[in-house]
Amino acid sequence: MLRLYNTLTRKKEKFIPISDRKVGFYSCGITAYFYPHIGNMRRYVMDDIVKRTMLHDKYYVTHVENITDVGHLVGDANTTDDKMRVEAEKEHKTMKAVAMFYFGIFENDMKLLNIIKPSKMPFASEHVPEMISLIKKLDDKGFLYRLDSGIYFDTSRFKDYGRLTGSDFDTLNAQLKGGARVERVAGIRNITDFAVWRFAEGTDMIWDSPWGRGFPGWHIECSVLSMMELGEHFDVHTGGVDHIAVHHSNEIAQSESATGKKFVNYWVHHEFLTVNGQKMSKSLGNIYTVQHVLERGYSPMALRMFMLSGHYRQILNFTFEAMDNIANTLNGIYSFLERLEEIKGTAKNADSADFRRAISSHKRGFFKALDDDINTPLALAEMHAVINYANARRAAGKLNKAEARHVMRAMLEFDKVLGLNFEAHLKPASKPLEKEVQDLLDEREKARKSRDFKRADEIRKLLKDKYNVALEDTSEGVRWHKD
Ligand SMILES: [Zn+2]
Repeated sequence: MLRLYNTLTRKKEKFIPISDRKVGFYSCGITAYFYPHIGNMRRYVMDDIVKRTMLHDKYYVTHVENITDVGHLVGDANTTDDKMRVEAEKEHKTMKAVAMFYFGIFENDMKLLNIIKPSKMPFASEHVPEMISLIKKLDDKGFLYRLDSGIYFDTSRFKDYGRLTGSDFDTLNAQLKGGARVERVAGIRNITDFAVWRFAEGTDMIWDSPWGRGFPGWHIECSVLSMMELGEHFDVHTGGVDHIAVHHSNEIAQSESATGKKFVNYWVHHEFLTVNGQKMSKSLGNIYTVQHVLERGYSPMALRMFMLSGHYRQILNFTFEAMDNIANTLNGIYSFLERLEEIKGTAKNADSADFRRAISSHKRGFFKALDDDINTPLALAEMHAVINYANARRAAGKLNKAEARHVMRAMLEFDKVLGLNFEAHLKPASKPLEKEVQDLLDEREKARKSRDFKRADEIRKLLKDKYNVALEDTSEGVRWHKD
């Protein structure tokens, strides 16, 4: 059974979805104003692993991830401008053009890193009317007040404000008052208050609202886009640890104030990625994108595996030495798989059952590790145990074909969650077949649809006799493998 560390309760909890096998899963997406760096991408790889673990555990996951193209201010202070607007002015483009450009880069990085695309990726700017109606609800309930710069949420009115940080409203405000660098908006009632609507003039990403022209706040967009797709109360919300204190605390405050319901059951937060022990920053010049890493000759799968080498709740330190090690390890795995395919021995081993049992026990260990708060380093160790075990048996000349297949099945099942593209590295010898097999499969599908089962069976037999290909009817369609 899956257990997740819940930031809200500060402990690992059994994962029990609200509605049986269906999971509502929301991730804070990118603000599309800059090239996503490998720290951003680590977060999405780790989200992908959480999701793939749930899928492996037979949950149906609806995954929503927003794209911020308006409203995300520079820094957490309320006095600054929109990141997107600043970038658009710098690039002499519209905000939408900037957003589409960087979203394209992000989409490509997701593809490279084999991240399953979320079910929905709504752009914030396309749902401003829904945001206005949530703000209206808050206004009607008296949670908001007006200043010259915008409409603000009065955090003192939400009794659990800051619960996600493990602190409370008074402590948080006292702490922030002590902080030297807090810029205050003129007239703000509490330091933790935030804008749900900012007044602004112009035409680019500016809307009319009952309060005046302007644009929505960043926090309101995540409340609206998540609830719009997943309902007012849903299962999982993820983000970076940097979102806990402000962005997610504010999302909870406004969502729960508007609906009167608990917003999210499980809050999952990913730690940072550092480079050579330092936080990535423009001033240090150590910001790496996926492209930067690929340009150095590493494969995207090596980068993905590097990201899996650390637990999501621990800081992961990126170095090129670590990447070298991972790239070697991954190549070793790929050649292991290729060798496994070549095993032809049919000798009957007296201890075959013991061997299989040992492999199965590591396989269970692998999935148990993932179910225990997504422990990817431990899961990888279990996979390496399988590889070492099989390698030792092969070196001793004992590994037979049936055992090799058992190992291969385990490896391919691991990869359903790891997403390291093992299948792409299987024997190329079977590849030229693909087109012919596919043509026959298409023909068989047509025959089945027109209820010509005789022809369908003939094709099944032909594939078996001529190509040694076996078919398997699954819920996702027909699969084939070479026997
Ligand atoms: Zn968000």
